[in-house]
Amino acid sequence: MYAAAHTSLALVAKRHHPTRSLLGFMAAAQAAELTWVALSYAGIEHPTIDAHGTLHLEHIPYSHSLLFGLGGALVLWAALRYLAHRPQVAAVMGSLFASHLVLDVIQHEPNIRVLPWLAHPALGLNLQAHPWWDFAVETALCLACWAYYRGDRKLLAALIGLNLANLPLMFAGEGGATPMAQNRFILPTVILVTIVMAWAVVGRFARTSRPSEQAMVPARPRSEAPAG
Ligand SMILES: [Zn+2]
Repeated sequence: MYAAAHTSLALVAKRHHPTRSLLGFMAAAQAAELTWVALSYAGIEHPTIDAHGTLHLEHIPYSHSLLFGLGGALVLWAALRYLAHRPQVAAVMGSLFASHLVLDVIQHEPNIRVLPWLAHPALGLNLQAHPWWDFAVETALCLACWAYYRGDRKLLAALIGLNLANLPLMFAGEGGATPMAQNRFILPTVILVTIVMAWAVVGRFARTSRPSEQAMVPARPRSEAPAG
């Protein structure tokens, strides 16, 4: 899925752990995508061009394999739980890490391997082939996360704006990215920009409405009120 949908799941975690870093939650949810960006820059993962000259994000065996998505989540959970001694956030960080693959299996064409070295089976329900449905599902997910977080109207508008900004990419499809195949740095850079934008926008507007934190601050008793 696009950056807005992955990032919005961090709001659910933030609702449960209001004092923890939203940036950490967003990074866990997007760790697989950032790995893809790094591996694409290195030339290890790359798109393929079919007989019609259409680009497909096909060769993503490491960053978007089930082994990496679920195994990485397990490693992250264990490291936070037993090395960093942070059991409160270990499970939520591991879940966010794994959520990336779950959402991408729904949206990708079948290009998500179970194991990096086995070409088959490849998973993907191909929601991306139906752009309006893709837009509706990803926007609905963002709105559900916003409602759960109990964000304010600015955050709501920001999430809708991020999804609207995805429309040109959704309707262009992977074929629309074909010109980017000329240079392997262009596509990962475009995706990296969408990730940073989603983090900046969600981080900015989530800060203005933190009802869960406000709810945790007890009302000051009258006797403690400063004199005068
Ligand atoms: Zn992804």
